[in-house]
Amino acid sequence: MMQTVATVAGVRAQMSAWRTAGESIALVPTMGNLHAGHYSLVNLAQQHARRVVVSIFVNPTQFGPREDFNSYPRTLEQDCKGLAEHGCDLVFVPTAAEMYPFGTASGVRIEVPVVSEPLEGALRPGHFAGVATVVSKLLQIVRPDVAVFGRKDYQQLLVIQRLVEDMRIPTEIIAAPIEREAHGLAMSSRNQYLTAEQRSEAGLIYQTLRAMREDCRAGKPIAAIEEGALQALRAGGFAPDYATIRCAEDLAEPGERRSGLIALIAARLGTTRLIDNLAFAD
Ligand code: AMP
Repeated sequence: MMQTVATVAGVRAQMSAWRTAGESIALVPTMGNLHAGHYSLVNLAQQHARRVVVSIFVNPTQFGPREDFNSYPRTLEQDCKGLAEHGCDLVFVPTAAEMYPFGTASGVRIEVPVVSEPLEGALRPGHFAGVATVVSKLLQIVRPDVAVFGRKDYQQLLVIQRLVEDMRIPTEIIAAPIEREAHGLAMSSRNQYLTAEQRSEAGLIYQTLRAMREDCRAGKPIAAIEEGALQALRAGGFAPDYATIRCAEDLAEPGERRSGLIALIAARLGTTRLIDNLAFAD
């Protein structure tokens, strides 16, 4: 039977019971409105640990003042049903007061320099500090052996890997592949905001990522590839924030390097902001 727990004390009690029984623990942090992408993380977590904890918390500190915190889809009942069906052992659904006992403005904030700075970090000031702060707290509450994050939010994954390594947090971070719709659109809770027509148009993001990879393999200059990608997205009705090729390990600009690269896109379709990426397997 899946348990639903809202308090830190409640989670700690169950974690120590499982530890006493010699059982390993995996954590999958989410903001809810679960889809097949999230469930693939739960499945991967089950391959790495006896017990799987999923947290559902729409974290206020990672949203900017003009972002969609209030309208972010909250579907707790449906999420819990799906998690029980996927064999989750415990779902942690804290309130903001439980996660931020000193309030969001006065609490400790964790900054992860360098990898937080380009791309999403430049466009969403404070976003990765909010992510690093809430993930630090979740890792301290659950103390899992492993925690699973999706490659969909690639820069977030790098931020978490750096956080865990630098803070000496004894949790192994596992990266899960991106789950996509049939036409290539990466699954996301924010896809809910799209009309049926926009949803099919949004396949252009993945098509553009693939074209960027092909152009790179064909030896086209990076700057020309990026310009072509921006133009293709604009022609398809998107307002792109970036379409770029970077070094996969730190998101630095590649210069002359042609191995270990990744293409990343962020673009708005109407009012919905979508992100996606494609690592170039060399
Ligand atoms: P979120 O609920 O959006 O914060 O996402 C929770 C976790 O699920 C993050 O580690 C995401 O990277 C991951 N995730 C979201 N969408 C996908 C997807 N389409 N494929 C794989 N992982 C995903």
